Amino acid sequence: MLMGDVEAAKVEPSRKNGWNLPPSRKQVVAWTVLIILGVLHFTSLVPALRTSWQPVAHIVPAVVLTFHLIVHLTAMSIDPSDDNVLQNKCPKLKIDRSKHEHVIENSHCNICQVDVAVTSKHCRACNKCVQNFDHHCEYMNTCIGGKNYRWFIATVVSAVVAIAWESGLAVMEFVTYFTDQASRRILQPYIDLGPMQHYKEADFKIFLQSVPHEVWLTMLAVYFVLGFLAIALFGQLLGYHIYFIYHNMSTYDYILAQRRKSQEVVASNKKCCHKKKNKVHPAPDSSPTNYGNSTSLSPPDIQTPTDPENNNNSSKLAPSLDQYTLHVINKCVTTNRLLPPLQGDKTAGLQTVVDIEM
Ligand SMILES: [Zn+2]
Ligand SMILES: [Zn+2]
Repeated sequence: MLMGDVEAAKVEPSRKNGWNLPPSRKQVVAWTVLIILGVLHFTSLVPALRTSWQPVAHIVPAVVLTFHLIVHLTAMSIDPSDDNVLQNKCPKLKIDRSKHEHVIENSHCNICQVDVAVTSKHCRACNKCVQNFDHHCEYMNTCIGGKNYRWFIATVVSAVVAIAWESGLAVMEFVTYFTDQASRRILQPYIDLGPMQHYKEADFKIFLQSVPHEVWLTMLAVYFVLGFLAIALFGQLLGYHIYFIYHNMSTYDYILAQRRKSQEVVASNKKCCHKKKNKVHPAPDSSPTNYGNSTSLSPPDIQTPTDPENNNNSSKLAPSLDQYTLHVINKCVTTNRLLPPLQGDKTAGLQTVVDIEM
């Protein structure tokens, strides 16, 4: 690099792991929900169960949550950077677009200033190259790559198990509030009542403090809704990663494959519409260059991730999934700030794909 380049370039900070400040909004929300659900479980749900069931209701989620905390914090703490980036002490530079069209060129990162592995990608959010890049996770506020992928999967699995257990207990207690009023065999506040006492006199608690029955039922309903949303989110995430693992592909590979496929569909539809239009309305001035959005699908714009600028791409296959799946993965990806959502004009999206490194 020339001295002039160094002087002109700005040094850009990079993130090491999920502990770097500031925390992401989703990271704060995830931890808040995790803590609220956990504390409520041990101080509100378990005490309402009959005494003989309480040890199991304490131990099972305690073990799962402890495991979750260990793997979650480990996944957050690992620096998934490319090995050469870790060894390289040069500062990260702001890329000079007048000199470099793309961040990674011929396996050399122009920001990290080092040669990187072919599976490495430069994450915009972390501003560093990540080995075996999978995706940038905002819930952990760090990149997920080869070095922390297993810990990430263990985090998602344990979260699904813990939340399913806790939400299931909330639903069971909500139902038994109504069904156990006479038999009084499941909920301890009912069991504690004398034979002549009305069920309305039962002592239900939140945070170990007595509350009116309506408040306790509302807490259960809110708990279940929160738990259901969390299970839907993490369950869906887990389903995708099981699919990716089965097909030996990364999230990044999948996104690129879906975008290529979407590009092909749009190009095919536009060609089809153009042929129909010419057939029905053979306007004298119509020409192959005068239809649709000429800027969106011209051959130079239809670049694939295997173009030179994206030489580290390792896409393997383009699985066939429906539009709902595309919507979901778009949502997932855009919330991770990797790529913009797929829209009618795919050229802009594709350009961003090839420029994902920066
Ligand atoms: Zn880099
Ligand atoms: Zn990242």
